[in-house]
Amino acid sequence: MNKVNNNPLIWFNIITIFPQMFHAITNYGIIGKAIQKKIIHINCLNLRDFSNNKYRSIDDRPYGGGAGMLMSFQPLYLAIKYAKSILSNATVIYLSPQGKTFQQNNIKELITKKKIIFICGRYEGIDQRIIDSQVNEEWSIGNYVLTGGELAAMVMIDSISRLIPGVIKTKQSIQEDSFSNNLLDYPSYTRPRVVQNMSVPKILLSGNHKNIRLWRLQQSLGKTSIKRPDLLKDKQLNMKEQELLNDFKKQTKKNNL
Ligand code: SAM
Repeated sequence: MNKVNNNPLIWFNIITIFPQMFHAITNYGIIGKAIQKKIIHINCLNLRDFSNNKYRSIDDRPYGGGAGMLMSFQPLYLAIKYAKSILSNATVIYLSPQGKTFQQNNIKELITKKKIIFICGRYEGIDQRIIDSQVNEEWSIGNYVLTGGELAAMVMIDSISRLIPGVIKTKQSIQEDSFSNNLLDYPSYTRPRVVQNMSVPKILLSGNHKNIRLWRLQQSLGKTSIKRPDLLKDKQLNMKEQELLNDFKKQTKKNNL
């Protein structure tokens, strides 16, 4: 358990009974590189290290009966206290199916917190008194129940980290990702030009960058209107965008006739 001694742009401290699971993000790919470059810092605390018994147990039966076990107050309280001693003023987040649903547009706000302590629940969850007294925010990654908060923490860390300056080299690719500006990403193609009788759209081979940009915007608008019309409801289209979308719809109608 080392003290943080560098200056990354965001710190994550994770309280979990399965720290090894986090190797899936810390040892691979873009997040692994960002850790090496000290742009982000990820530290795991094994909750069992805060157990007060020789069996290192951290759970107990729920009062009132019922199925399953609950993570007890004391080890979680000590782990959070320790995590806060490493990361002063950190925001404590409990991953929970009952939390606010995590979306792309929540990331900017979470980045401003800079120091985040994630609590990964297991079993039937955690003692309510930890939520009432120690947790600042509860976040869910969707309307389904996982066996533990670790995957949810990794999903949030991965998507938050890729928006930290320097983690992804090209700013443009982030700006064009799905959900940026309430639009889905446009279709992309790579070599070969023709595969199984399917060709790359001619415009992408034209070298005319203005027209390519407009085609991509039109594809983004069109795809979003077909696959996720709910996103467009929250978006104010300018005249050019409306024109491109109308044209896309006309073309699609014509091709389906
Ligand atoms: N009994 C709890 C309930 O219904 O609210 C579910 C407990 S779940 C089996 C065990 C742990 O997985 C939770 O404490 C939480 O940390 C995590 N978890 C499960 N589903 C999640 C979700 N959709 N988002 C975030 N964390 C989740």
